[in-house]
Amino acid sequence: MLSSVKKQSYFTIAIIVLFSVFIVIAFVFLNGVTSKLNSETESLVHDMVHGNTQAINSMVKADISTVTNYAACSSKYKSRIRVELMTELKNLTEDSGLLNIIIIDEKGDVISYRNEDINVSYRDYFKRAMNGEIVVSETIYSEPDGRMVNVFAAPIYGDYQRVIGVVAGMNNSDVYKEILNLSVSGHEANAMGYIIDSNGEVLMAGASLFGDYTPVGDNLYQSDFVASFTEQELAVLKDEFNKKDSHGMIKSTDNNGKEYVAYYATLGVDRNLHYFAVFPADVAYGKLDGYVNKILVLFLFFIGALIFTVVAYLIFTYNSFKALRKANEEITKVAYEDTLTGYGTWGKFEKDAKYLLSQSYRKFAFVSFDIDKFKAINDMFGHEEGNRILKQIADIVNRNLNNHETFSRINSDNFYLLLVYKSDEDMIDRIKKIIYALEYEITNFAPVISFGIYRITDTKLSIRKMGDLADIAKRTVKYGERSAYAFYNEEMLREIREEKHIENEMQNALDSHEFCVYYQPKVSLGETPYLMGAEALVRWVKNDTVVSPAKFIPLFERNGFIVKLDYYVMEQVCYAMKTWESLGYKDIMVSVNMSRVHLSNPAFPDTLKSICDDYAIPTSRIEIEITESAAYESLEVLTKVFEKLKSLGFHISIDDFGSGYSSLNMLKDLPADVLKIDRAFLTESVNNKRANDIIAYVIKMAGSLGMDTICEGVESDEQITLLKDLHCDMVQGYYYARPMPTHGFEEILKGKHETIRINKEN
Ligand code: C2E
Ligand code: CA
Ligand code: CA
Repeated sequence: MLSSVKKQSYFTIAIIVLFSVFIVIAFVFLNGVTSKLNSETESLVHDMVHGNTQAINSMVKADISTVTNYAACSSKYKSRIRVELMTELKNLTEDSGLLNIIIIDEKGDVISYRNEDINVSYRDYFKRAMNGEIVVSETIYSEPDGRMVNVFAAPIYGDYQRVIGVVAGMNNSDVYKEILNLSVSGHEANAMGYIIDSNGEVLMAGASLFGDYTPVGDNLYQSDFVASFTEQELAVLKDEFNKKDSHGMIKSTDNNGKEYVAYYATLGVDRNLHYFAVFPADVAYGKLDGYVNKILVLFLFFIGALIFTVVAYLIFTYNSFKALRKANEEITKVAYEDTLTGYGTWGKFEKDAKYLLSQSYRKFAFVSFDIDKFKAINDMFGHEEGNRILKQIADIVNRNLNNHETFSRINSDNFYLLLVYKSDEDMIDRIKKIIYALEYEITNFAPVISFGIYRITDTKLSIRKMGDLADIAKRTVKYGERSAYAFYNEEMLREIREEKHIENEMQNALDSHEFCVYYQPKVSLGETPYLMGAEALVRWVKNDTVVSPAKFIPLFERNGFIVKLDYYVMEQVCYAMKTWESLGYKDIMVSVNMSRVHLSNPAFPDTLKSICDDYAIPTSRIEIEITESAAYESLEVLTKVFEKLKSLGFHISIDDFGSGYSSLNMLKDLPADVLKIDRAFLTESVNNKRANDIIAYVIKMAGSLGMDTICEGVESDEQITLLKDLHCDMVQGYYYARPMPTHGFEEILKGKHETIRINKEN
């Protein structure tokens, strides 16, 4: 949870950083684009101005050439025939496209083909031309033409380079008006063009773009255009206008605060003439602004999209964070609440136990318990009933807890408790109290419960490990007849390790024939006892040591290996019987122990039969021993198996009778042939009148039910005498012989063993 929050804040920071970087890049980019566009616009405008300068230049040049050329060949104009001269002027005028070309004598009198009788000696252009200048006049009003004109004037030289007159060409100023203005981005003119001389005098001006007002006026140097210029700036401008060839750009702000940009270029025809184009600043940069605007809009759109994305992301993460927290709460509930009991789970127990144990001043015990054969409860009464019992157990345990204690159902019917205790006695009392409560408070069911207790001596162990130790203790009392408890000790761990070791080796031991069958004679108690047969008892012989079945059979019953082992013993028995047959001993009965584990396997009787068939041993010579306690699991199943075994011809013996709780009344319907009275019974019977009576009763009852009786564990003369008196049919015990390997039993068969008379046919 924490890490996901961290992740989210990292992500948010990353987004912010990215965002900032983006903005910086955008500004740098925009700046770059702006200045690039700026310079591009400038050079574009410059190119256009340059183009226009060329055009104006050639126009002016053409007009000036017309007058200068004519002036050059007019030195004799005074002696020319007047009519001829006028015709010449008329033709020249028409060819040149000028309004009128005239000759003016030194007094200012005009010679014109239009016969105008006027004097222009007062005109500035006349005076200057008489001074030898080639003149382009400012725009003036021409009376004969009735319009505004510009005059191009050139001196006529007579002898000795004396100016003897002037040739002047009037040009319609409208012709220039049209060409002077400039259009940068289309049809409309954006810039107002001027021709200005070195004195700042405006000679020609394009049509006004600024209404009545014009920022330049009659003289640039005195105009609004330079109003904002410092003296120095103005000097620089004047200097520029006095250069032979100059061009450039200047910016200005007029009195009204309006900004202008002007481009200027010297007209090649005369160093004193300059083309001057004035743009309002917003027009000059209009194109640029358009671009910048577009980019700005794009940029804003981008920023908008980005902000939208970020906000959407934040909303989304916030929502998913909320959902995550909710899910986490739910998971915590699932992880910590056992839905079946309503109490804690293993996870909760582990957490709470850790916390409680950290309060080191208390003494704690870790208790594990479960119900023996709980699976059977589910099978018999259904899962609902099983669940009801588990819930009841949890309630009872919960009621029996003190402060600083906790418990939890770990799985199935397994519970863990963490209890505070002072002494072992104290602990035992607690357990007994819980057992009592469980036995009496659970309705409709009397559970057998096994408790394992680990006194927590090492608090550094993990909770799971502590549970393992309590479980080990529990296993040592499991499958007893009543609820019980055991304290964990080191010995148990050693045993567990030994069991692990055995489990690792068992299959290999079976394959390499380390399991051997021993035989213990069974003796008939007649006038003279004789050998009836034997019980097959398995041994694990490894490295010349003989391991008793008590060490491994219970383990094999738990892990299921007993099934393989029993069939193996059965085969070994058949093999031995075959050998004995060949030696002539065909009547020997051998009883073979079969674990109750087989009962759940429907193929069990047939498997035994097929083993006998493999060795051609009649099933009637085999007695199957199954312990009395097998009846607890299901008398019904036991009956069925017995019936099947009987139908296949086997003899059946109920082993260990009297060691448990079964009564003869209970077993009377089982189709068994032999009742095998447990050794424990016998140990008590000799000196105990009551035990004596019971054994007598059992033998009598068995007889009346059609069963033979055999007593095992007979060790003494007294026991033999007693059993003879009570008409017990057979005995088995150290009194006659201990279990022995095959060859030992063969010796007995062959009569080499004195103590037992052998019932030999031939
Ligand atoms: P069990 O079937 O009750 O076997 C009788 C046990 O009593 C044998 O112990 C035997 O050695 C012992 N015994 C016989 N006479 C006397 C006596 O006079 N005094 C004393 N104190 N003991 C006597 P063992 O062979 O150690 O077998 C123990 C148990 O292991 C058997 O009890 C049986 O339940 C089981 N077992 C042995 N072999 C097999 C087998 O092949 N399959 C299965 N499933 N269980 C087996
Ligand atoms: Ca037995
Ligand atoms: Ca027995």
